[in-house]
Amino acid sequence: MKFICFGSGSSGNCYYLQAADYGIIIDAGIGVRQFKKYFRDYGLSLARIKAMLITHDHADHVKASGAISNELGIPVYATSLVHQGIKRNYCITKKVDERRVRNFEKGETFELGPFRILPFNVPHDSLDNSGYFITYRGRSFCLMTDAGHVTDEMAGFMEKADYLVVEANYDETMLQHGPYPPFLKERIACGTGHLSNSETARQLAAHLNREARHVWLCHLSEENNHPSLAFKTVEAELRQAGYPVGATLQLETLRRQSPSPLYDLDEPCDENPAEDSHQPVIA
Ligand SMILES: [Zn+2]
Ligand SMILES: [Zn+2]
Repeated sequence: MKFICFGSGSSGNCYYLQAADYGIIIDAGIGVRQFKKYFRDYGLSLARIKAMLITHDHADHVKASGAISNELGIPVYATSLVHQGIKRNYCITKKVDERRVRNFEKGETFELGPFRILPFNVPHDSLDNSGYFITYRGRSFCLMTDAGHVTDEMAGFMEKADYLVVEANYDETMLQHGPYPPFLKERIACGTGHLSNSETARQLAAHLNREARHVWLCHLSEENNHPSLAFKTVEAELRQAGYPVGATLQLETLRRQSPSPLYDLDEPCDENPAEDSHQPVIA
């Protein structure tokens, strides 16, 4: 299973997961030309992309949903509310073609190629918002972003995920003393806004799977956060709770406007690991 992040934050979110030649885009907040360029740069094949999943209907997650799905001819999976939001969103000039609209219900598992996808609710001030718990060959990848708070259900997925992408949007002190007007500060900090570094740290320390391999902090604010601050806040809390950060657990922050490395997420060893291990990383 391979994972890459092409951008994470208010200027555009886009993630990519691929296994067994089946690729899924999660969110389409970067332009189609940029997206194709990144694919070329990383030696990835656009022909492998088979589907798009959308978290929610804010422009930084959907502005290229129509353009990319039309260009690649792939279906777009989201809740019907999110699809309604995409239709209404004036930032999206190219809408998702009706033939490519696919609806799912949160809490109901569905399959996309070799992946099993379980969408779940994430509280946020969009029309609707889904996190995804995705399994492939006994490994799980989970993404939860733009979350006003961590629900019990979300905590349950933190407890199960081997690989987790979770929001660490702002530092509480920086937000408080930062340049945003009071209404915006309130919007961000409320229960349907975004997760702070310290709240994410607290939730991870309380719930993260003890066997988790990798945690990526996503959707960092440009004005109210620093990657090193988000990292240190979460690292300190995880270490305090006895997590092996830097040993068997990797912790990283995702960059806002440039792609991450291409990660090769390992899968459980089978009886004949020699044939299966060390697949070359396409980079
Ligand atoms: Zn966002
Ligand atoms: Zn949002």
